[in-house]
Amino acid sequence: MEGTMKAAYLPGNSTVLYKDVPIPTPGHGQVLVRMKASTICGSDIRAIYREHVGKGPEGYQGVIAGHEPCGQVVEEGPGIRRFKKDSRVIVYHISGCGVCHDCRMGYMISCSSPLRAAYGWQRDGGMAEYVLCDEKDLVELPDELTYADGAQVACGFGTVYEAIKKVGVSGEHSVLVVGLGPVGLATLMLCRAMGAQKCYGIEGNPVRLELSQKLGLADKVFIPSKDTVQEILNLTGGHGVERAFDTSGSDKGRLSAIRATRQWGKIAFVGEGGTVGFSPSPEIIHPQKTIYGSWVTSIWLMEDLVEELVRWNLHPETLITHRFPLEKADEAYKLMSEGNCGKVAVCFDEELK
Ligand SMILES: [Zn+2]
Ligand SMILES: [Zn+2]
Repeated sequence: MEGTMKAAYLPGNSTVLYKDVPIPTPGHGQVLVRMKASTICGSDIRAIYREHVGKGPEGYQGVIAGHEPCGQVVEEGPGIRRFKKDSRVIVYHISGCGVCHDCRMGYMISCSSPLRAAYGWQRDGGMAEYVLCDEKDLVELPDELTYADGAQVACGFGTVYEAIKKVGVSGEHSVLVVGLGPVGLATLMLCRAMGAQKCYGIEGNPVRLELSQKLGLADKVFIPSKDTVQEILNLTGGHGVERAFDTSGSDKGRLSAIRATRQWGKIAFVGEGGTVGFSPSPEIIHPQKTIYGSWVTSIWLMEDLVEELVRWNLHPETLITHRFPLEKADEAYKLMSEGNCGKVAVCFDEELK
């Protein structure tokens, strides 16, 4: 495709830089994807937008931003094997080397090859009219899901699904989610779909608190206080929940997740950054609790998630509170950085409505 396209970059001083750049041409094994929806992840804010603090896999290399891209194939490069022109696709946002052990397991997120490049971090991402993708990084978006649904699967919902699969959630479990930003809300949404008995949340931001109540995903949402853990214990027969997820990334949030979990319970740490301090014997060892770390997901679980979303008739886009066109991406990032919102999306074409 000839011509130029608009693209957004993050210089690291809480602004967005727009450039007109040439529309890329797909090489062997690649396709050109016309962007339809590109959502903003908390990691974009934490590691890139305000300041470039990321290192290694989170080191931003001055590329086109956006690691939650979803769109439609408009041009095929040579050697394409599965996807075609007009295919609706989610971009699994890390392009791995393809031949290391982690890549062979489908966990390109954990690829340690120097060839590994994440979209929006080390190679051009979804905040542009087009994105150049390796075919192996694509997940098919079924007709039942919108592009705005798909964009959130590319990182956020995939990440949540992975953590839930690690700890296992079913009708035998009460669940606590600490932090009800987009990732926390997605956790509640999927835990509900998987049959969790009761769902509790903890959130201090009034806008997010109100949103979680409006969406009705939790049986009860607590404003964090010194009594919150005790209140959750009271609601669960004095025992605590079977499963807890921390998406807050805060010391206190993680501690609440540990302490509100019952003996033999499982806790997943999903929110990044910060630290946590606890006494292993009374908090973890004696009560036989397990803490899981969970980072993004694998491409095969992402495919499973997409299939489940259709069966559950779940639409991640219900978490989107604000949509902006690409030329207003600066407003989108600013809003997400302030945090008084649900999910924030940059949309194109029909997904802008
Ligand atoms: Zn992300
Ligand atoms: Zn690899």
